Amino acid sequence: MSLRFLVDSMHGYVARWLRIMGYDTIYLNNIEDDEAIKIASEGRILVTSDSELAKYAESRGITVIMVKGLSEQEVLRTIVERFNLTFKEDFLRCTVCNGELKAIGLDEAFNTLGFTPKGVEKFWKCKSCGKVYWKGSHWKNISRQISRLFNTESTCNDA
Ligand SMILES: [Zn+2]
Repeated sequence: MSLRFLVDSMHGYVARWLRIMGYDTIYLNNIEDDEAIKIASEGRILVTSDSELAKYAESRGITVIMVKGLSEQEVLRTIVERFNLTFKEDFLRCTVCNGELKAIGLDEAFNTLGFTPKGVEKFWKCKSCGKVYWKGSHWKNISRQISRLFNTESTCNDA
């Protein structure tokens, strides 16, 4: 069973990267605490820097990661280490809408995009919003960030 998350409105960066890693992540702007509790009660880990919301959620038996005062990268690293997150080298979640992605063929990619990037054969499409993904030039950057994230022997010491 895969972990699922609810990320508060302060942490869009974190939500995006959890989705890149393939984790079902709800990210909502300006939601009421009660609504957040309701969504998190459906088996989601709450990521928040709101201490009142964190306390409220914990009293309802929700797993909370309190991330007050941490940078976005520290938040992400905290989550990865605490829950042993893994990264599969495939696109699994849409970074825009959290929809599930499915692998599609070259023809379908062409029909959706109106072109296909040169030399690319593998494509994925969001089942919800239709956004098409492929490992383009930005993929190197993503891979680099991910390997940095999973490298436990970090050379930089921010403390
Ligand atoms: Zn989508």
